[in-house]
Amino acid sequence: ARAALLEDATGPGATKDGHKVPLLANIGGPKDLEAALEHGAEGVGLYRTEFLFLDRSTPPTDAEQEDAYRKVLEAFPDGRVVVRTLDAGADKPLAFLPPPGEEPNPALGERGLRMMRHHPDFMSAQLGALARAASGLPAKLEVMAPMVTDADEAAYFAAACREAGIDYPGVMIEVPAAALRAQDIAAEVEFFSIGTNDLTQYTCAADRQIGGLAALQDPWQPAVLDLVALSASAAGEAGKSCGVCGEAAGDPVLACVLVGLGVTSLSMSAPSLALVRAALARHTLDECRQAAEAARSARTAEAARAAVRPHLPALP
Ligand code: PEP
Ligand code: MG
Repeated sequence: ARAALLEDATGPGATKDGHKVPLLANIGGPKDLEAALEHGAEGVGLYRTEFLFLDRSTPPTDAEQEDAYRKVLEAFPDGRVVVRTLDAGADKPLAFLPPPGEEPNPALGERGLRMMRHHPDFMSAQLGALARAASGLPAKLEVMAPMVTDADEAAYFAAACREAGIDYPGVMIEVPAAALRAQDIAAEVEFFSIGTNDLTQYTCAADRQIGGLAALQDPWQPAVLDLVALSASAAGEAGKSCGVCGEAAGDPVLACVLVGLGVTSLSMSAPSLALVRAALARHTLDECRQAAEAARSARTAEAARAAVRPHLPALP
């Protein structure tokens, strides 16, 4: 059945009735570009730049950064390239950027944008390298900060981006506070990208690194779907885009539900693109909306999974 579903998996992402949903790739660096292009990614929805900084004792030079970013931008001349600034801390520790103090709960500590605010030199070096890499290239560079909590942080990041010459600053929505006040945050930035991995971890208070908590670390939890819906509608009302770049986007069933919740693009690891493209192509936007409504009406993650099936008849 999966093979049959793959048959119509070509072209840009869209529902059966032509509602466009750009399908983008999550990458860790230029080494992942070949797979992204091969699987028909329309751009990059999440470039996790920490891979450039991992496993080394000193940070990359400005020239090294610029070179890596340019390679990625050159690969998608007509597409969007969404780069995430360094997400150091918690599950992504960096040797040369230790947290400023002892952290009994690193996931609730200095990470992402919080860490960068302690090292503004680091952030401006990265933003500068990004702006230089993009200059003269046709790709649309969008830059987002991880682990943003409130509108002040969003405003701080947007100002830093604009000062560096980056016109499309955005934020990841991965902290429940940011989703709950998405309207305030949407006024500060150009786009959202929902990180369902962390949003689920923080909504359900279930550490993503503890395997035994998998049942709670589940993006089908209706509470998580509610926060996705809130974020997408706040972005939509402000005329801004709202993608999803967490693992949830790569699940063909959940991808349809996310589109039904109002999400405007989906970014995933390259091998997931074909199935998601096919799942969307076989359902109308209205079917996706009905599935989303059914999922949000369920009381548990398991019930949500079951409730959407009658609305998405073409899925195996
Ligand atoms: C997420 O949190 O969903 C996400 C996409 O970022 P990461 O997995 O790198 O934290
Ligand atoms: Mg995250």
